[in-house]
Amino acid sequence: MSNKEIAKTFQFLGDIMELYGENPFKIRSYQNAYLTLRKLDRPLAEMEATEIAAIKGVGQAIAEKIRELLDTGKMSTLQQYLDKTPDGVQEMLRIKGFGPKKIKVIWEEMGIETIGELLYAVNENRLLELKGFGEKTQNELRQQLQYFLKSRNQFHFASLEAEGQDILQKLQTALPGVKVEFTGAFRRHANILESIDILVGSTAGLDAQLEALGLQNWQVQADHCSGSSSNEYPVRIFQCSAADFGSKQFKYSAAPVFMQAFLEQNPGQDFRDIAEETEIFKKAGLPFIPAELREEPWAIVQAKTTGVPTLLETTDIKGVVHTHSTYSDGLNTLSEMAEYSKQLGYEYLVISDHSKAAFYANGLQPERVLSQMEEIDALNKTLAPFRIFKGIECDILNDGSLDYTEDILAKFEVVIASVHTNLRMDEAKATQRVIKAVENPYTRILGHPTGRLLLSRQGYPLDHQKVIDACAANGVAIELNASPYRLDVDWTWIPYALEKGVMISINPDAHSKQGIHDIHYGVLSARKGGLTAAQCLNAKGVNNFVMWIESRTQ
Ligand SMILES: [Zn+2]
Ligand SMILES: [Zn+2]
Repeated sequence: MSNKEIAKTFQFLGDIMELYGENPFKIRSYQNAYLTLRKLDRPLAEMEATEIAAIKGVGQAIAEKIRELLDTGKMSTLQQYLDKTPDGVQEMLRIKGFGPKKIKVIWEEMGIETIGELLYAVNENRLLELKGFGEKTQNELRQQLQYFLKSRNQFHFASLEAEGQDILQKLQTALPGVKVEFTGAFRRHANILESIDILVGSTAGLDAQLEALGLQNWQVQADHCSGSSSNEYPVRIFQCSAADFGSKQFKYSAAPVFMQAFLEQNPGQDFRDIAEETEIFKKAGLPFIPAELREEPWAIVQAKTTGVPTLLETTDIKGVVHTHSTYSDGLNTLSEMAEYSKQLGYEYLVISDHSKAAFYANGLQPERVLSQMEEIDALNKTLAPFRIFKGIECDILNDGSLDYTEDILAKFEVVIASVHTNLRMDEAKATQRVIKAVENPYTRILGHPTGRLLLSRQGYPLDHQKVIDACAANGVAIELNASPYRLDVDWTWIPYALEKGVMISINPDAHSKQGIHDIHYGVLSARKGGLTAAQCLNAKGVNNFVMWIESRTQ
């Protein structure tokens, strides 16, 4: 063990003890040990115990800990703290420039225990109410967290999208006349990715182009080369001849189970050396199946029987549903949210601030609900024909009931019911709780059904089939939360929802004007499940939307 590693262990010990509010003098002595040990010019591993203890600022107790570290690779004092500290909180301590004081507040006051939850809280402006967290701190923290997550080699689609587009365009420009396209899971718009994958229809060397792009650390693998982008995201470049492009693009783009089903349906067929991907489908006697549907075998069955659906487009979305304003935890005012939505060409906005139980998000007490409704009435007069709907993101309480009395619930035009607290439930409890909320006559949309945060929180287990059945029976729509960190309901449940006639609503859950653009990610995910405009709730124009929300009360 090097001096540097030993020094860092003491630094970490000091930090973790500060988290528990331990004796400041002890903490100081470990911080000093860190400073002393890292500057030492002789390896501690080669020194006698007495020599170590004689180092200025070390002393007997610290010398013993160094010895223990050198002999066993561990330090029992530190281990005690590690045992009672969640892994995610330990990770937070390792993030540069963050520090135990702030982590203590976040962990104790907000119960946040993973980096992903923390990133999500930052994106929802949750930290602004805490002492010591201004907007600047929050933005710095966001960058540090994103950087941290990057180092784990799994990424939200949204993290790689812009970088991928940039590399693709530059390669296309650098290689005129050569086909250059996204491939792999990236082309399928998978929610979670490991790399940006690109297929180049030329076997000529690419060294010069890759260097010009600032791509680094290239390694040649069996059928591709891999490296990292200038922002250190993993990139894989596959190459093939132009004559083989269609075959290779088909091969790399398909998920394994899809490919298996496809080949089983076409025994003995040779799909090699085909330049155009469309020719492969012709040869198989199938209509063209878009890449994002090449996940599961049902897409092949569907293509054969009813044909490939015309998938939902972002331009099909007519209204912005599920948004927050400064009334609860949004960054922009109600009128800013409405004007921006109107400016983007949407016909309506469903404002849905948090309900009163969400005290951490400044949830609305009944009197604030009423004053917001007055403001909506006034704004609707000036913004017409654009319309703001009086909505609420109403907490589903622990017993499945909603967070307001009936007289208040009856005043809302759109109630989105969501679970935000007591997320640790088994499947039976969670399913029962959610179904009870779905059966509530005021509920119109079930918000983020599992509460998951991609790459950081699994969400509670849910019997999706039962919940979807309940939505069908009660005329409730299911949200596909379009935040790229949620994408909840999972797209794999869309086919079942559609089979049951349940509408899917693509909801940005926007906590700022910019957040509205997340609709894009919701649409990409919904397409994977075969969603069409006809079955998407907020693809309805304003009049049809009104008819739909009123249909339950009649
Ligand atoms: Zn929510
Ligand atoms: Zn929300």
